[in-house]
Amino acid sequence: FCPVGAITENSQVRKVLEELEKHDKVLIVQTAPATRVALGEEFGLEPGSISTGKMVAALRRLGFDYVFDTNFAADLTIMEEGSEFLERLKNGGPFPMFTSCCPAWINMMEKLYPQFIPNVSSAKSPHQMLGAVVKTYFAKKINVDPKNIFLVSIMPCTAKKDDIIRPQHMINGVPAVDVVLTTRELAKLIKIKKIPFATLPDENYDDPLGESTGAGAIFGVTGGVMEAALRTAYELGLGKPLGKIEFESVRGLEGIKEATIDFNGKKLKVAVAHGGLNVRRLLDKIVAGEVYYDFVEIMACSGGCIGGGGQPKSLDKDVLVKRMKAIYTIDELSVIRKSHENPSIKKLYQEFLEHPLSHVAHETLHTTYMDRSKKKGKVEVLEHV
Ligand code: SF4
Repeated sequence: FCPVGAITENSQVRKVLEELEKHDKVLIVQTAPATRVALGEEFGLEPGSISTGKMVAALRRLGFDYVFDTNFAADLTIMEEGSEFLERLKNGGPFPMFTSCCPAWINMMEKLYPQFIPNVSSAKSPHQMLGAVVKTYFAKKINVDPKNIFLVSIMPCTAKKDDIIRPQHMINGVPAVDVVLTTRELAKLIKIKKIPFATLPDENYDDPLGESTGAGAIFGVTGGVMEAALRTAYELGLGKPLGKIEFESVRGLEGIKEATIDFNGKKLKVAVAHGGLNVRRLLDKIVAGEVYYDFVEIMACSGGCIGGGGQPKSLDKDVLVKRMKAIYTIDELSVIRKSHENPSIKKLYQEFLEHPLSHVAHETLHTTYMDRSKKKGKVEVLEHV
């Protein structure tokens, strides 16, 4: 009997409960940037409460062996995506370059705008990157066959449940991520196990895939991926520190945001769209040639991942504003706020990935897209630039 109905509602919750019960594999979990600013609402905390430490503690009490942070992988995404953008600047395109971390946007693009396949960054979404690193680098480090690792992603997102079954996301013959649970489903799991969430002590993520920066944190909100990428692309591309690291012009909940960024004399035109209608509006203008951009961030949910379909439901009309403020607070309080300064990311490149866009980085962290606009049976796999 399940007191909150989760077991009958969702077979993936049951699957995770079974794995926790059996515990015959190494059990690893990762948590998305937006989960930590919403999970507390399920336990009576105010919207916008930051419950990172309690969430980590709850996951340990559920029985996970390692609790890793998708924010770490967001930093890794920026290393790859920022470098890809710099390569395109050197090679003349194709522009605009689109972000790739939102699987709902990728589904839409493959079905409705396949002409943009060469424009979308080939970087996998951060949780897929972390999954791929766990089942290669980390598996070797702990001397465990990747088949004996069970990895759960806690996401604000329902689209990521479909993202994990893409064949191009298999790694070493196994799925990079085994199960995606939403923020709400994690809350159900914690309630089923009667873990007293609100009174748990704060605990830290595990090493080596638990260290992250403020740039990784802001992936959870619209404009965040763009801002994080600009922080790194500017410093790696120009070799000098940014004066002010906040890009205010891409922040806020306006549906479409545009900005011109001075990149050492070159004026970069960027845009950010979130929420289905805004996304369609912006894409149709690009297709019609009415606007030009160098770099575009697309997130399917209103507000970005803070407003994801798997987040707690709220009657508070300001819930997105409160979660957004919490995300920027995490960034402000972070000791390191640029992805390329994350010491654990540097170590990962030294020990395994060599350098951004290396052969091994491509094998592990990049993906391909399919034109799914054609009639069934005529799906074509397009190699990325
Ligand atoms: Fe998932 Fe929505 Fe975030 Fe896209 S914007 S990754 S669909 S939660």
